[in-house]
Amino acid sequence: MNIILIGPPGAGKGTQAKRLVTERGMVQLSTGDMLREAKDSGTEMGQRVAEVMSKGALVTDEIVIGLIAEKLDSLGDAGAIFDGFPRTLAQADALDDLLQARGAPIDHVIEMRVDDEALVARISGRFSCASCGEVYHDTTKPTRKDGVCDICGSAQFIRRADDNEESLRARLMAYYKQTSPLLGYYHAKGQLSVVDGMGQMDAVAGAISGVLDS
Ligand code: AMP
Repeated sequence: MNIILIGPPGAGKGTQAKRLVTERGMVQLSTGDMLREAKDSGTEMGQRVAEVMSKGALVTDEIVIGLIAEKLDSLGDAGAIFDGFPRTLAQADALDDLLQARGAPIDHVIEMRVDDEALVARISGRFSCASCGEVYHDTTKPTRKDGVCDICGSAQFIRRADDNEESLRARLMAYYKQTSPLLGYYHAKGQLSVVDGMGQMDAVAGAISGVLDS
């Protein structure tokens, strides 16, 4: 099964994708994670994307489609969770073509709907384990033991450079301008389901499972 999670920054796409990886053995394909890896690699492409990402703008379709195509080549039979991709209609078209070639189309597109006001609070307190990637929040999900990851015991944490109010405003604008038209596209194709992303993590996970098992 292949699914797409769509929602504004801070909607919880990454958190829910990680649950699906654990619970259903699917593979998370996050273009944001791939781009952060490219950024850290110090290559010329990495430097170019770092600048765009820090402004909260979208990286070119060509780069992200290339990254996804490469990952799909090595995916095998596992179901994919597209997290943060596609973000433009050109990316959606490219994904349709790539999946058609694999004979494994998209089964569900899930919009995670969240109030804009909640996003600033969610994003400004967000940090993650540098080792295993578990995501935490200063107030809503701190580590159980101060400074130690609950999952892997690492003491190294990172905060994303673009998790600040100015970048968030730009990222939200990019979402409404370039990504939200995809909701109409997938609705017209009969693939779109909406879940309330404002609830507790377990409730959101339950709603997503309901869609996948429907
Ligand atoms: P995310 O981790 O999904 O919030 O993505 C972080 C940043 O990476 C975004 O603000 C964009 O600059 C870039 N990015 C991630 N995915 C895409 C995509 N599909 N298309 C263009 N830019 C992307």
